[in-house]
Amino acid sequence: MTTLAIHNPASGAKIAEVPADDAASVAAKALAARAAQPVWAAAPLEMRKACVLRFRAAVVAELEALAATMTSETGKPIAMSRNELNGLLGRIDFFLAEVDASTATQTVFAEGGMTEQIQHIPLGVVANISAWNYPWFVGCNVILPALLTGNAVLYKPSEYATLTGLNIVRLLHAAGVPTDVLIALVGGGAVGAALQAQRIDGLFFTGSYATGAKIAQALGPRMVKLQLELGGKDPTYVCDDAQVQNAAASLADGAMYNTGQSCCSVERIYVHAQIFDAFVAAFVDTVHGFKVGEPMADDTYIGAITRSAQLDVLDAQVADAVAKGATLLTGGKRLPGNSYAPTVLVGVDHSMDLMREESFGPIIGIQKVASDAEAVALMNDTRYGLTAGVFTPDEQRARALLAQVNAGSVYWNCCDRVSPRLPWSGHGDSGVGLTLSTYGIQTFTRPKAWHLREA
Ligand code: NAD
Repeated sequence: MTTLAIHNPASGAKIAEVPADDAASVAAKALAARAAQPVWAAAPLEMRKACVLRFRAAVVAELEALAATMTSETGKPIAMSRNELNGLLGRIDFFLAEVDASTATQTVFAEGGMTEQIQHIPLGVVANISAWNYPWFVGCNVILPALLTGNAVLYKPSEYATLTGLNIVRLLHAAGVPTDVLIALVGGGAVGAALQAQRIDGLFFTGSYATGAKIAQALGPRMVKLQLELGGKDPTYVCDDAQVQNAAASLADGAMYNTGQSCCSVERIYVHAQIFDAFVAAFVDTVHGFKVGEPMADDTYIGAITRSAQLDVLDAQVADAVAKGATLLTGGKRLPGNSYAPTVLVGVDHSMDLMREESFGPIIGIQKVASDAEAVALMNDTRYGLTAGVFTPDEQRARALLAQVNAGSVYWNCCDRVSPRLPWSGHGDSGVGLTLSTYGIQTFTRPKAWHLREA
């Protein structure tokens, strides 16, 4: 039988070996999900909600062990693993509170014996191919609303977060979701490719642009609903009137939280020339306070880089920037435990990969700008468009600037933030479609139009 070995990225130790899928088992699982879905869809919504509520209780009961598993296989600092699980509870509560109203049949016209209604029916069998960096969030953003709205889910967790993916599935089965309504597929890219080749009614992907583009190309002619939540190169502009200390502390955290491995990490910072030096000094000070260490330690802030290949990307971005004239203020090197020193560069510009390509690590370039117009032009000089932010006490100024920026989410005096109440989406190469908010519930349904004339 094929197996998948799971390693701790910080120590390199093998921590588990789990049975893996192949093309034949993926096909069999897709058929099983197809057969099971109609019964699940026909069950009362209250029953499906009760399953999710029991799942919530199980997450609370097992939180410490679930966090430890996530940390052991991803290198995420344990405090941040706990935060992710606690954050998940708010998302569950949102889905449970909103699913009834979001999916209720709407009567949009009733006159002269003619009635028009919109009914939200499940897509059917949906595939969820997922990333490792926030495995509970990105897994559950799809799995929970998809199940609540009556879909069956074929879920392939990342090969770097498989144990966590299997925990999600185990707890949902224990909470009452039938085993063929939610099925885990274990493996790497080949298993994802085998899954996308099955008869499915929707594919919901979270991961890199490169993989997302391959999936889009393969699915294009098949008319399967496709959502892609991809990477970003998220900018923030700090205006001349910003509170320097607050902005620096918030943005250092936004750039380096989760060891910089967040889709919405702050990846580029533009600072007005008038406060540039003060901002950079405060930023570097904050970064020097970040404790790099063993991911299981409570006070670790910078953990392991999950995929060791990413260390080469970080080294290459630093080398490229320095070769083109940037100044390295701190960091710029690998550390024991597959980690990377928090890294700050100035004297950067858009000729450098550091300012153009996703870093996905604890490194940041800070560029000086002379005006708001220059900042907006630079923020928009990207193929991505996930999030963008502005720091200034002046709300009107922030709103005027952010209105000009191409991004799915914009932030005033905050960053690296996701809310279950708001849609999560990207412009450009950051993806298509959305999760979260009431739209992120309806996206797992097909609106069916009813034209009803009384005889
Ligand atoms: P990845 O593209 O390497 O892998 C994502 C998933 O795709 C994995 O499950 C992988 O096994 C699978 N896969 C790989 N090749 C495949 C193929 N040919 N066919 C089908 N499936 C295949 O990405 P990753 O390293 O897991 O995640 C990091 C990326 O995800 C970053 O770019 C990050 O910004 C992005 N991300 C985006 C969001 C968002 O909400 N926009 C959230 C989290 C992560």
